[in-house]
Amino acid sequence: MKFSIKLVLSTMIVLALALGFSGFYFVNNVFETSLDREVGQALDESSILSFAFETAALNVPLKYSVMPDSVVEEIASKLEMGGQGGGRLLRIADEEKNILYTSGGFTADEGLLPQTDQHTKSYRVICAQDRFYVHTCVSINALNRILYLETMKDVTEVFTERALGFSLYRKVTVVMLLTGMVIMLLIASLLTKPIRLLTKATREMAAGDYTYRARQISRDELGQLTGDFNKMANALEENICKLEEEIEAREEFMGAFAHELKTPLTAIIGYADMLRSHKLDEEKSIMSANYIYTEGKRLEAMSFRLLDIIVAKQDEARLQETSVGELFAYLQEMFTEKKETDIRFSHEEAVVWMEANLIKTVLVNLIDNACKASETGGGSGDTGSDTVGVVEVTGQTVENGYRIAVKDYGIGIPEAEQSKIVKAFYMVDKSRARSKNGAGLGLALCAEILKIHHSELQIESREGEGSCFSFILAPCGCKD
Ligand code: ADP
Repeated sequence: MKFSIKLVLSTMIVLALALGFSGFYFVNNVFETSLDREVGQALDESSILSFAFETAALNVPLKYSVMPDSVVEEIASKLEMGGQGGGRLLRIADEEKNILYTSGGFTADEGLLPQTDQHTKSYRVICAQDRFYVHTCVSINALNRILYLETMKDVTEVFTERALGFSLYRKVTVVMLLTGMVIMLLIASLLTKPIRLLTKATREMAAGDYTYRARQISRDELGQLTGDFNKMANALEENICKLEEEIEAREEFMGAFAHELKTPLTAIIGYADMLRSHKLDEEKSIMSANYIYTEGKRLEAMSFRLLDIIVAKQDEARLQETSVGELFAYLQEMFTEKKETDIRFSHEEAVVWMEANLIKTVLVNLIDNACKASETGGGSGDTGSDTVGVVEVTGQTVENGYRIAVKDYGIGIPEAEQSKIVKAFYMVDKSRARSKNGAGLGLALCAEILKIHHSELQIESREGEGSCFSFILAPCGCKD
């Protein structure tokens, strides 16, 4: 059953109970008040009649010392006739409760008379022949005789009014319940709208539409739930996007990896086949063996790089306070032999948190790339060197750490390629990169190493003018 229907039904049950009880209490209260009034009137009337009887007894001729039955009947018949509309319903009994006079239509049973004595005045509400009466009984002291006067007052109207009241209230209750049900259906529909919107959003998301959001139409708890649901949906969408990107990157990586393997392997297999199936002269044999060797070496270098990347991805950097001076001295010594490029080192002395070996790998890669980019088409900018390309390696303290930059005046990188070159196996100019033993893995490795140093590679480059690769390391005293 729908939640809104449950809500309506439960409200209706409460409403029906409330209306039923209040209606019963109200109608019954009115009835009891009316009946009390009628009983009071009946008792008053009975007192007046007994007083009238006693007054009439005073006029009985003096010859009687005790009121005879005939005079009782005479007075009773006069009292009966004196009633409104002709006849009163009354009955007279003597001291022994023997009936002396009964008016026509008096139908009360004998129950009340035996209970009444000289000192009491009693009454009962009785039903006789489908009508209701107040039956009273009082004693009369008339001319040395104790008599009992019973009267019957018709109160059927009070009972009829009660039945009418109940019937009217039932109709009013039914109308109110029906109207209430229509209003409650509207209210329930409005109240449960956020739930319906949330259900729709859940179904849309389950069907794969992660961008679908539930409309927030209230500020109450349901509105809050919708807001929280949307936040959860945002987080879910973000994670799914990330996962999709990761899967895409992995597929791209696998494709590029397979491609990079294929080129050297095709060459190796081709030359090996030539060596085993033809009798080659010495020069050709040496050339073939040489190809196999260099392509094999390329594969070996590539697998080492890949291993380095995997290790860097999984590793936690073991950061140590390292003097920048030592790092620069190492690099300077390493590149002294490189005569084709003028590598200029300059740095501000500082102690920085890093894993020195890994940062050396990053800088060796960046300097290597800068040298390669400066070799052809490269210039020296306004550096004053006309013959060889110039690469500047600088280190300086900046606001948020220590910045190391490798700047060249080489071929530069087209703007559209700049965001892609850190991807594994990505090379701007594949044939040029391969001719220089590149496989597009160097910058991917640098990015992974910098990630575990909580840093990232900044690339500024202009095609034909040169590039600057830089990163910032945390200063001492700040490991994270
Ligand atoms: P590779 O082994 O090919 O050098 P990298 O990941 O180090 O691989 O570099 C990816 C590509 O980025 C290179 O093939 C080259 O096209 C481009 N690149 C890297 N550094 C520079 C630079 N300083 N100037 C111009 N292009 C560069």
